[in-house]
Amino acid sequence: MKKGQNRKEFLKNLGAISIAAGAGSAVPLSSFGQSAISPVSAGDSGSRSGTLKIFNGRIITPYRIIKQGTIVVTDGKITDVREGNIDVPGATEIDAAGQYVAPGFVDLHVHGGGDYDFLDGEVDAFLRAAETHARHGTTTMYPTALSGDVDTLLRNLELYEQADAQNNAGAQFEGIFLEGPYYSMDQRGAQDPRYIRDPDPAEYKDILSRTSVIKRWDSAPERDGALEFAQYLLSQGVMPSMGHTSAVYEEVLTAFEHGYTLATHLYSGMLGVTRRDAFRYAGAVESAFLIEEMNVEVIADGKHLPASLLKLIYRIKGPDRIALVTDAMRGAGMPEGDSILGPRDDGLEVIITDGVAMLPDRTSFAGSVATTDRLVRTMIDLAGVPLTDAVRMMTSTPANIMGIDDRKGSLIKGKDGDIVIFDDDIQVDKTIIAGRVIYSS
Ligand SMILES: [Zn+2]
Repeated sequence: MKKGQNRKEFLKNLGAISIAAGAGSAVPLSSFGQSAISPVSAGDSGSRSGTLKIFNGRIITPYRIIKQGTIVVTDGKITDVREGNIDVPGATEIDAAGQYVAPGFVDLHVHGGGDYDFLDGEVDAFLRAAETHARHGTTTMYPTALSGDVDTLLRNLELYEQADAQNNAGAQFEGIFLEGPYYSMDQRGAQDPRYIRDPDPAEYKDILSRTSVIKRWDSAPERDGALEFAQYLLSQGVMPSMGHTSAVYEEVLTAFEHGYTLATHLYSGMLGVTRRDAFRYAGAVESAFLIEEMNVEVIADGKHLPASLLKLIYRIKGPDRIALVTDAMRGAGMPEGDSILGPRDDGLEVIITDGVAMLPDRTSFAGSVATTDRLVRTMIDLAGVPLTDAVRMMTSTPANIMGIDDRKGSLIKGKDGDIVIFDDDIQVDKTIIAGRVIYSS
């Protein structure tokens, strides 16, 4: 930013940053809202055509709760949301039996589940992981890929597209989130050090010229070329995010002004306050707090972050800047015991115990095994967050962040009929995508 330049003007000129106007008014990032709709494919029996009526539910819109309400979905889209019961001739009816009826959960960051990782190298891995997460309320997900070599990446993008076309029974895909490899070596975490390097324009431009399925790409904004990288991503309709970074406040602010408006798994893979000689520096964590318009991801499995930090993040950022994410590895939805982090044939042996994956010597976490229902439950039970806010952080806020809120994230007339029905303990009873029940307990 040049000295004296009006900051809001500057951000507006970037074309992709929403300026917060107050709680609950997050403006969609218009340039990210243009991804092709990936509908539940036609050809299956319980198709999108037809009418579904859900009645006798406590509807979380998620901006308020309608105590005893009815939702009607026609041809995949919500056509009515109201109090009481109404007659809808010819509709398939679901009695919610007083349970909660919420928008389907939107997971921005997930590596696998049901014993599959998206990097396993097979179409089935995408499909089975999507089905596993759908059983826990996820209706929209962004399959996430870690750093690797370019050929493997391109192959996986191909598999993703094949899986997307066949995905009739799982959470729907909205695009790929690439996690790396332009990261800080110091903050790489589980990322393979062989691939860690500065953003390489020849490489990322080539990758983005071959595919349109990448919707978000993460990097450390302090690396040489990272600001140009973000600008290029924005020009291609891809959201830049910052993660695995050693950046301090001045760097994060500059990064934000160049389009890094989302912090990947806050607290993990980034610095808090550091000291160099006599002087202290705010890290990426404090920067994300200080820059009001910065959105943050939170792994709310109750393991990666304790109750105190979940409460702190919620108090500072509020429900319209926080996206709950699972960041789940293949162990999500699986019994505890031995598992593998990363690709099945080339991953790291880990153990799943007490609700989280750990290195065999238990010195470090090796990934989350959370599902989205658990994130909502944890925010309520452990962090004391009101139900509607917990649901917002799992639905409307992530949809706003990715600019798909014209279709996803709330139970409002005209939006997709993606709905989850759950009880007082956030145990999922039914998951519905585009008006079609894809899971029933
Ligand atoms: Zn991840």
